[in-house]
Amino acid sequence: MKKPRLIITNVLVFIITGLIAFVGVPIWAVTQGFDTTEIITTLVLFYATGMSITAGYHRLWSHKTYDAHPAVKVILAIGGAMALQNSILHWSSDHRIHHRHVDEDDKDPYSAGKGLWFSHIGWMLREYQAHRYDDYSNCKDLQKDKVVMWQHNHYLAIVL
Ligand SMILES: [Zn+2]
Repeated sequence: MKKPRLIITNVLVFIITGLIAFVGVPIWAVTQGFDTTEIITTLVLFYATGMSITAGYHRLWSHKTYDAHPAVKVILAIGGAMALQNSILHWSSDHRIHHRHVDEDDKDPYSAGKGLWFSHIGWMLREYQAHRYDDYSNCKDLQKDKVVMWQHNHYLAIVL
């Protein structure tokens, strides 16, 4: 079977950020070094973006495990955008499909049955889901959340 076409934007984001992380940062560390502010900022943003995905995208929005004050939602929405994992609405839609069809290779968007590479990186590099890209019918509840829709409609601006 022919593979779907590459999503050039996603491929470039992974290549460029990978080069910066694995080549640029070590070169900078050796030639310039890092000051305390840079190290603390890195640790804070690493934690904030991670928590925005774990506590926000995953537990708060995808699974509705708890509810949160709108101010907390805005902070998690901004942190999630900084993590570059797509909008809350898109991420949650994928994740709800994942849980409904865990490891069914033809339905789970990032089925582990298709291998380690596919389930972690590969699924984002090609148009595997072009047929359902704008279908958020499994997230009608989230479409009523003003923070979710604000972030979805202004995702690129928030990322930048
Ligand atoms: Zn989950």
